[in-house]
Amino acid sequence: MRTLRTVSDLRIALAQPRREGRRIGLVPTMGALHEGHLSLMRRAREECDEVVVTLFVNPTQFNQRSDLDAYPRDEEGDIVIASEQGVDYLFAPPVSEIYPDGFATTISISGITAPLEGAHRGREHFEGVATVVCKLFNIVAPDVAYFGQKDAQQVAVIRRMVADLNLPVAIAVCPTVRDPDGLALSSRNAHLSASEREAALSLSRALALTAATIRDGERQPAVATAPGRATIAAAGAVLEYFELVTPDGLEPVTEIDRPVLAVVAARVGRTRLIDNAVLEPLASPLQPAAATVPGRS
Ligand code: AMP
Repeated sequence: MRTLRTVSDLRIALAQPRREGRRIGLVPTMGALHEGHLSLMRRAREECDEVVVTLFVNPTQFNQRSDLDAYPRDEEGDIVIASEQGVDYLFAPPVSEIYPDGFATTISISGITAPLEGAHRGREHFEGVATVVCKLFNIVAPDVAYFGQKDAQQVAVIRRMVADLNLPVAIAVCPTVRDPDGLALSSRNAHLSASEREAALSLSRALALTAATIRDGERQPAVATAPGRATIAAAGAVLEYFELVTPDGLEPVTEIDRPVLAVVAARVGRTRLIDNAVLEPLASPLQPAAATVPGRS
């Protein structure tokens, strides 16, 4: 695996494989790699000839300086982990390479960015995400880019951008990887104490409870999410939102009569966590709805 720091070095490295028509896969990350990131890399390795992983803690998507400063970083460990996965190129640029002096362009996507994460983190969050992902697409020019369902709204925003700007890249979405007890893996979990980790489990438990309520026939979103809200509150986590929305457009659901996306964000101590699950109102005899529920697979 080669670790590259500049746009021009990466472009030079990819020129030959691209000329040979080799399929290039991109996995954008902010590092502090865990099994969730690795699942994206493994899929890219299976499906592509050249795998590029980017490691860049993007300052423009953080709305608080303290959150950016506290974000976990372990570049040496990440280099070992990525190379063990058979990654070909690790692109780890300094901030000045991505945002040189005079940088003045922002990609702003309306609609899908407004609710949920956009409402709680501010519009700058998805502007930062969209701008850096668009730059990475232009720098790497991948055939396929891999993202995690863990950040469901981010996936929806990127799909919107790719469609609106005719970006020539396929978007692949990989399922959320969880610890055996259901906690969704996140780089931010490194900040959790043992008691906070226990409280953090309330997010996936709330999703599982909501799934059970819906399977039992509940059709009203406010009623279906009530036990989950109570679980999160009882655990001492501070809920930001817990909503049922449409899986593609992230619009509020008024009646649960088709699959819905349950999305949750809460603070546990100083750590902000998110999770989500697609919940099915009716279990098909061949594929029980419980299969998609965190902590039950
Ligand atoms: P991050 O480094 O947090 O920006 O994440 C980089 C990519 O990994 C994003 O596409 C995330 O959605 C994805 N990812 C993060 N956590 C998980 C997880 N637990 N399971 C699957 N994908 C994940």
